[in-house]
Amino acid sequence: MVKTAFCIIDQQRYDMTDGMRLAELGPNLQAAIKKDYPQAHDNSFICSEHLVHYRLVKMDQMIANDYQQNDQINAQLSKILANHTYQVVDVNNELEHSLTFGQRVADGVARFGGSWAFIISFIAVMLVWMFINVVPLFTHHFDPYPFILLNLFLSMVAAIQAPLIMMRSKSGR
Ligand SMILES: [Zn+2]
Repeated sequence: MVKTAFCIIDQQRYDMTDGMRLAELGPNLQAAIKKDYPQAHDNSFICSEHLVHYRLVKMDQMIANDYQQNDQINAQLSKILANHTYQVVDVNNELEHSLTFGQRVADGVARFGGSWAFIISFIAVMLVWMFINVVPLFTHHFDPYPFILLNLFLSMVAAIQAPLIMMRSKSGR
């Protein structure tokens, strides 16, 4: 035997599974229904169809409230803009001035170290170094093959460059 109940709104008989008791609803929804139907109590039943109606009304109210808040914020903003009581701050400029000497050096080195100019000049230096140490034309080979001293310099450059890149104050510049 299926339990039935009367909807508080249209007084029609419904299956109990086809709606909810007021006690099961959220407090706002309960309040809204009780406002329209003062005789409603916790055990009153409301059918799904009317429940959807109340939920939509509630949603409309929430949206309307949001719009209202939006308008208030816009009004405040317009007032402030109209009064010119604000100060325009160039955040990038402020940051630039607040950088320490070390950070600026790190920025410069990282910028140069990541450029094509650096890569090309680096390759050129290596080739000249190897050329001088291999070609018989130069009698004094200060770093003969396999260029151990050059290898040491390359390692040192890499060791210094890594922390400099990490000290950089901003990326992508
Ligand atoms: Zn109903």
